[in-house]
Amino acid sequence: MSISIDVLGMCRICLNEEDLLDVLLLGEPTSQWMMDINRYFGVQLTFHEDKSTKICFNCILKIENWRNDMKTAANCQNIINFLDRELKKQEREEEMEEHYDSDL
Ligand SMILES: [Zn+2]
Repeated sequence: MSISIDVLGMCRICLNEEDLLDVLLLGEPTSQWMMDINRYFGVQLTFHEDKSTKICFNCILKIENWRNDMKTAANCQNIINFLDRELKKQEREEEMEEHYDSDL
């Protein structure tokens, strides 16, 4: 008895058989997708695969959400860093004022 499974017709990440897109044909730089899939899911795809290079819509959405979350986090770091600098500047100014006051 042979079992017929279309291993190339499954999502590489979750084995879903519907709403599949081929990572090699996604349009954006393929290497970027491969890198992000590896960073997010821990699965390394290559350009010369015998296995499925397809990924389902759901898994793509997870990566796109994750990319957006990272962008948001990066923007928030800019704000955090700005506030940190402002706070330190303010502290320095207060120290200088105290110093000045004590000299009088
Ligand atoms: Zn999937």
